[in-house]
Amino acid sequence: MILVLLGAPGAGKGTQGALLSAHLDVPRIATGDILRDAVRNGTEAGTEASRYMDAGELVPDDVILKLVREALRSPDAEGGAILDGFPRNVSQARALSELLVADDRRVGSVVVLDVAADVVVRRLGGRRTDPETGKVYHLEFDPPPAEVKARLERRPDDEEATIRHRLDVYARQTAPLVDFYEGIGVPVHRVDGAGSIEKVREEVVRATGAGAQG
Ligand code: AMP
Repeated sequence: MILVLLGAPGAGKGTQGALLSAHLDVPRIATGDILRDAVRNGTEAGTEASRYMDAGELVPDDVILKLVREALRSPDAEGGAILDGFPRNVSQARALSELLVADDRRVGSVVVLDVAADVVVRRLGGRRTDPETGKVYHLEFDPPPAEVKARLERRPDDEEATIRHRLDVYARQTAPLVDFYEGIGVPVHRVDGAGSIEKVREEVVRATGAGAQG
């Protein structure tokens, strides 16, 4: 099953994608994470991507598609995958369909996490990552232990002006994917992403018909 997780930045795609990935036992392919790794490792893709990412702009499709093609064709994605942060526009969605058809696969369903803009700004504004463990905290909602606090990092694109720009990019380029998928007959499930992690998780699992275990 290839499942596409849509939602504005800060809607909870990373959190819910990880939970769903464990639940369904398929990998989560998160293009934002792959790009951040590429930036850290100084690869060619990372070097090209970083200026777009820091500005809250979309990275060019050709860079993204190469990364996604590799991830989707890796052996651990044979049984399916959860796509988090991809596709981000209609041309990526078309390219994804072509890539999957070539492998005799298709997108099985889409889950949209709906969250209001002011909630997103609050969530992302307080988000901090521990560079040593990769764990993500929130200064207000999931405060870090004192000994970790000093080393926490803020994502460069989590500054308020950049968050607002990313929301705008989402509204203009990514939100139209709901119509795109409905138009080609792929079931689209809308879930209210404003509740607790557990409540949203239950709704996502219910929406995808993934059962109640896990
Ligand atoms: P995310 O972690 O999903 O919020 O992505 C962070 C940033 O990575 C985005 O603001 C974009 O600059 C870039 N990015 C991630 N996924 C894509 C994609 N599918 N297409 C273009 N740019 C992307």
